[in-house]
Amino acid sequence: MNPTTNQQPDRRTRYAAAMAVRDGDTWPTQYESDEQDYLRRADAAIALADAEQADLRSYEQRLREQHDLDVAEVRRLRDELSEYEVMNPQQCPAGKHADWLVDSERTHACPWCEIERLKSATK
Ligand SMILES: [Zn+2]
Repeated sequence: MNPTTNQQPDRRTRYAAAMAVRDGDTWPTQYESDEQDYLRRADAAIALADAEQADLRSYEQRLREQHDLDVAEVRRLRDELSEYEVMNPQQCPAGKHADWLVDSERTHACPWCEIERLKSATK
């Protein structure tokens, strides 16, 4: 491989050459003044591209931080869910009250029936 064709032109030259080719010119250009003009324009384009890239990197960083927070929240919620998944459903034997969950396999008395019983017993 020819070592001269293997060399990557610097960024400024790549931008200048791309603009020259886009204009239908050659690179290198026929006239030195045209080449200097494309290089000057390349400096402006590079400055804008660098600013845009800085904005994108900043945005990417914020997205990564938000992603890490979201992943942590999902883990927390999954841990919380796993505490409920081991619970057993309980039903009011009288069929009067809402179902509820207990964290043991033992059947519990309906708390609402118990409240009613205790309230009526203390009147
Ligand atoms: Zn009940």
